[in-house]
Amino acid sequence: MSESSLRVVWVYPDLLSTYGDQGNALVTARRAEQRGLKVTRTDVRSDQRIPTSGDIYLIGGGEDRPQRLAAERLQRDGGLQRAVDNGAIVFAVCAGYQIIGHEFINDLGERQPGLGLLDVVTVRGEGSRCVGDVLADIDERLGLPQLTGFENHQGVTRLGPGVRPFARVRIGRGNGTGDGTEGAWRDTVIGTYMHGPVLARNPQVADLLIKLALDVNALPPVDDRWYEALRAERIAAARQPA
Ligand code: GLN
Repeated sequence: MSESSLRVVWVYPDLLSTYGDQGNALVTARRAEQRGLKVTRTDVRSDQRIPTSGDIYLIGGGEDRPQRLAAERLQRDGGLQRAVDNGAIVFAVCAGYQIIGHEFINDLGERQPGLGLLDVVTVRGEGSRCVGDVLADIDERLGLPQLTGFENHQGVTRLGPGVRPFARVRIGRGNGTGDGTEGAWRDTVIGTYMHGPVLARNPQVADLLIKLALDVNALPPVDDRWYEALRAERIAAARQPA
């Protein structure tokens, strides 16, 4: 990227955009603009090529059939894999998270290959669907406040040695493996089960993506009062007994 501009790519809004995940693109762009960056946001529909020159790629959640189609098309396209090879940042939610792993079970009950950007494998959970508000502690290496989000998935995601858990759940199920892990990350690629939109609930995670893109350790502070009010409300909701 050039010194003062940032290209945010919102991947397949026509297939992967549940629970307001598009808000992740809005929040990322807004917070970058507040730091004086010029932001180009590109929404790439599933019948278009994935540009390889983006800085931050955001992928949302989706239902099982759109998830299968999105994985097939991303696989065929190859652009996202090339962008990551060039150092791009990827932040993927739920179905998006499953797609960037090695494989998942699709709506036809088949094992479907993902993009292999994260060393994770998703199977279909035998138990009840994971649904509800989540509160989790983000990997301390990332130095971020507690993660708040909303989950709704049947998939159970197992992590391989090539990734670290993004967070550890205090409330909720996360990866659904029963070991308390939530999401996965390595280098510039992060996957999470958190909807919300998660970057509106956790603006410091949006800032992390921007910092990775700019290769800086800190950003000028911005007014976070609105976000803090939203966080307080959602954290209280997560703590309320079901
Ligand atoms: N279809 C996937 C699952 O149920 C992802 C759902 C989602 O993105 N919310 O596991």
